[in-house]
Amino acid sequence: MLPFSACAARMQALTPRLMPGQTLVASFSTEPDSASFDGAPLIVFPYRDSWRAVTPLSLSARPGAHTLRAVIRGEAASAAVTVLARRDAMIDLPVPTKLAQTPKQLVRSLATTNTSINSAVTAVGTTILFAKPFGLPLADNRRISSPFGEVRKTGEERIVHLGTDFSARRGAPVGAINAGTAIAAYADPTYGNSVIIDHGRGIYSLYLHLDSIVVARGESVRKGSLIGTVGDSGMASGVHLHLSVKIRGQSVDPIQFVSAFR
Ligand SMILES: [Zn+2]
Repeated sequence: MLPFSACAARMQALTPRLMPGQTLVASFSTEPDSASFDGAPLIVFPYRDSWRAVTPLSLSARPGAHTLRAVIRGEAASAAVTVLARRDAMIDLPVPTKLAQTPKQLVRSLATTNTSINSAVTAVGTTILFAKPFGLPLADNRRISSPFGEVRKTGEERIVHLGTDFSARRGAPVGAINAGTAIAAYADPTYGNSVIIDHGRGIYSLYLHLDSIVVARGESVRKGSLIGTVGDSGMASGVHLHLSVKIRGQSVDPIQFVSAFR
């Protein structure tokens, strides 16, 4: 084990305190031989003039003291990470009448849709497709109408909100949160007009309930490229943009991810 100061020079936890559902981000001055958190390997990639490693914490991650471990040029290094407990709000959200579904049917159709989306966003490719920090999708991102992790009480069902909702006017331009490839651009019965961007190495962003889509499947996008406009297509109770970020198939808090990845 290296003395702490030597470890710190080579490895730094950029998120020493975080919550379940958020993204652990670490920086390395040189490529690590391996890096892991709670025994699971991190996704490691070159970024600017150093290296980054990320891993998504599930919503069931255990609060308390954890350790980030790495091996760098054959030497072990570690950093303390504290996982804090979440305190999510619960709101009543009845099934929109236009869906004509019971809460149970809605939960079942959400599960089917999420399974098919997850099959598209779990691949961890070998290359990273971006070179800049992530950004947020709208010109004005200050009006968050529903945060990540909010629990929606729909009849007897509990549905956790696995993205961030931004309110905006219909037709407001939506930009890609970073460079990547649009791997899906389609109309989904539940999520409406949807775009999925692959940023490489298992990091994906999803833009749902769009009014219009202006990117084609397979197209490369830059950070901020126009991919669509804000709407209320699919199961939406008002005009807003739903943004999800998925890492290795796991949904993470988009706002925390964008601020932590630097
Ligand atoms: Zn949403």
